[in-house]
Amino acid sequence: MDINAATKNLKQIIEQLQVLNSIHTALSMTIKIEDIYSIILSALISHQGLGFTRSFLFLYNPKRDVFEGRYALGPETEEEAKQLIEEQNKEDDYLNDILKNFETEQNAKSEFSKDNIDKLYSNLRSSAVWIASVQNHGFDNALTRKLNEFAFRANPQEDKNENFINVLLNEKQAMRFNLEKDAHLFQKECGEIFDTNIIAVPLKAKKKIKGIIIADKKFSNSELTYLDLKNLDWFASHSSLAIENSELFNDLENMFNELKEVEKLKNNFLSIISHELRTPLTSVLGFVELIINGKVGAITNQQKELLKRVSKNTMHLIHMVNDLIQLGELEAEGIMDVKLSPVDPLNTLFSVIPRLEQRKRSRKVDVELVFTEAPPKILTDEKSLEKIYYHLLDNALKFSPENDKVLVIFKKMKNELTITIEDHGIGIPKEKLQKIFESFYQVDSSLSRSYEGLGVGLAISRLLLTSTNGQIEVQSEVGEGSKFSLKYPIAE
Ligand code: ADP
Repeated sequence: MDINAATKNLKQIIEQLQVLNSIHTALSMTIKIEDIYSIILSALISHQGLGFTRSFLFLYNPKRDVFEGRYALGPETEEEAKQLIEEQNKEDDYLNDILKNFETEQNAKSEFSKDNIDKLYSNLRSSAVWIASVQNHGFDNALTRKLNEFAFRANPQEDKNENFINVLLNEKQAMRFNLEKDAHLFQKECGEIFDTNIIAVPLKAKKKIKGIIIADKKFSNSELTYLDLKNLDWFASHSSLAIENSELFNDLENMFNELKEVEKLKNNFLSIISHELRTPLTSVLGFVELIINGKVGAITNQQKELLKRVSKNTMHLIHMVNDLIQLGELEAEGIMDVKLSPVDPLNTLFSVIPRLEQRKRSRKVDVELVFTEAPPKILTDEKSLEKIYYHLLDNALKFSPENDKVLVIFKKMKNELTITIEDHGIGIPKEKLQKIFESFYQVDSSLSRSYEGLGVGLAISRLLLTSTNGQIEVQSEVGEGSKFSLKYPIAE
């Protein structure tokens, strides 16, 4: 081979490598499995791609344990092949013209006119006629219909009749076959569709064979070469990667949808349970109150004391059920009737503290207010602020050591008021600080945990804050305590 021919050959190989690279990019950007298969088949036979004339895809069907003929791309007859080659040549010429024009115009330092670009796009159906033909006609062509009639047993051990698929699966790489020499490996009808010389290669994903590609150069003067074999091998491994990515993406999407479904079921379940529980609990409380108040006859003091405990615990249950209902509503539709108006943060706090008496007493912890000037009014929703105060103070008291103090510190900064609820209790590990605002999350979620609670107070507070002008921040050190800071705009 002279030096000129060698250089030309090398140039061709480099060009082909560039083409392969762009096919690889196209494959890695595609997620839909059907699109991946069309890129694979088009790339094989594209004039600018791997240079085969026809490509065929067999896909594994696990239900039948066979490889089924699925898609075929390329000319079916000599006539069609000629026509397509003519179209390709026309497009090549056209491209060359445009490029020449472009160079001359560039040399003349004039801008490449918009007209020319428009012409380029309107006349250039596609650099590869084949791709255009996939887009125009899909795989519903005579060749595909013929291929659909083929199915090959997929399990080499069980199948006594040798066929090319078994040989290929044992070798696990691209192989050349000659339908005359290897006639015993092919069904008779194969000769009607494939060329005498073909290359076949398996497609793998997640270590399983997903399909088989066959390519030939029928109706062309070129032979299948060793380079073709290597190219197809390379191409199949990249295609396999694209198929695997697509399957992973599908798995992820399915998992995500299942999770959404489970989340919906959980919410429905909670909402039904909570509503169903509230009615009987309310009536239990009502009847117990009637008895305590002597409305249905006299009771002894001991009976009264015991019934008071029943009443207290029923009340506690009702509060929990109400929290669950509220969380469900907030997560589903957000806060319903927000009334933003100037709210006195101190008065609101005073209205909440009596409800925490029980907790304060059981922990022997007091609440102390800290401010240097009277806290200004803030623009928010009073009912929501009450609930937020309640949940934050309840936690601060619950997680405080006995005989301690919880501080509520008011600090005015420019147009903002910061209200910090500070305790000196068990604290929260840094990596859990964001999680504690998720519904049902508890740092200690074991059944043997020493603190009661449903894990919804902070989730409710955060959801309420988002629609009532507020923000929340948390700082905490394990063993030293926690500070939950609320920030609200000051009402003008
Ligand atoms: P609950 O207190 O009912 O478990 P919350 O949503 O109010 O639910 O709080 C979630 C979790 O955040 C608590 O279980 C606890 O682990 C942690 N936590 C909240 N506030 C404090 C606090 N002041 N000190 C320590 N841990 C806290």
